[in-house]
Amino acid sequence: MRMLIMGPPGAGKGTQAAQITSFCGILHISTGDMFRAEIKESTELGKKLKSYLDSGQLVPDEVTVKVIEKRLQKPDCEKGFLLDGFPRTVPQAEALDGILGKDGLDLIINISVDSAALLERLTGRRVCKQCGKTYHLLYQPPQDEGVCDNCGDELYQRSDDTRETVSNRLEVYQNQTAPLLDYYAQRGIVRDINGEQSIDDVFQEIKKVIRGIV
Ligand SMILES: [Zn+2]
Repeated sequence: MRMLIMGPPGAGKGTQAAQITSFCGILHISTGDMFRAEIKESTELGKKLKSYLDSGQLVPDEVTVKVIEKRLQKPDCEKGFLLDGFPRTVPQAEALDGILGKDGLDLIINISVDSAALLERLTGRRVCKQCGKTYHLLYQPPQDEGVCDNCGDELYQRSDDTRETVSNRLEVYQNQTAPLLDYYAQRGIVRDINGEQSIDDVFQEIKKVIRGIV
């Protein structure tokens, strides 16, 4: 079982990825984790990665592809894996096909959530100015509006969480992933999952899809 999980920021991808890998008994391969591992081991790749990340640059495709290739060759990947965060673009997907050979990936799980719902989720966070406790207007509201339960100080919205910033992030995601979804849809391996349900219901839907293909 070789899978890729996709979904916009705020779709709950991380939570679902953890449940899927434990359900299927396969590895969760996230680029973030791999980068950290290479850096920790101070490999040649790790040193290169560190220099990109330290200077705030994007890691070039060829470097990311090398890290993935190295990881996928380890014997613990034979039973299958769930990729998370890679590929993000069509050239990366083509490179992955080169690594995996003619069979490629078996399944793309695409968690979809309507933009308006995502905006609501992602702009709802509020933070206390004084003690730093975080709230969410929908999921964990304070007892009194705009006031910290802990210390009574004022709550504010971080600049990362404003409507404008979040809309931009979502737009970047849509523009980047639309061609990638098309690329995989041509093979008939993309399954859209309705992400506007409870975490548990989303997972039930994913399980049905997985059972359908094994
Ligand atoms: Zn507080």
